[in-house]
Amino acid sequence: MAYISGLDSADSPSGPGDGSGCFLCEAASENLGDDDMDRTLVLQRDDRGILMLNRYPYTNGHLLAAPLSHVGDISELNPQQRAGLMELCELGTRLLRKTMQPQGINMGMNLGRCAGAGLPGHAHMHVVPRWNGDVNFMQTVGQVRVIPQALNESFKMLKAALP
Ligand SMILES: [Zn+2]
Repeated sequence: MAYISGLDSADSPSGPGDGSGCFLCEAASENLGDDDMDRTLVLQRDDRGILMLNRYPYTNGHLLAAPLSHVGDISELNPQQRAGLMELCELGTRLLRKTMQPQGINMGMNLGRCAGAGLPGHAHMHVVPRWNGDVNFMQTVGQVRVIPQALNESFKMLKAALP
């Protein structure tokens, strides 16, 4: 109930704002050098958008794909941007299969804060590798997520797998 009450009113899928303070816009900035890409966990940046590691992952290797522009709803993206997003997700699945051998992968999009979007103003896809038994009592009872590999190690491994 506290979570639902905390949902702010500025919760249209697009949300307000021009992208200032948005971590996806920062990650999509063309001014980023290699060091910055390490810092922002961006694996791939091109015309299609960005593919990056999620800093607050559900599991090891949780990736995000996002368009370069600060647009909150898939309906505001043009067909080329939507197709590019799917291409980046597909690249993500290849990188994950090559490096982490997941037994399954969840892929999806949360539109609006009540649907779970942590950043409603900038549309993004989640690519989440899964293993049998990876969700256990720790997350629900212990309120702890079990992430056995450090983010920067995952990042190096995935980056090395880029074609
Ligand atoms: Zn943004």
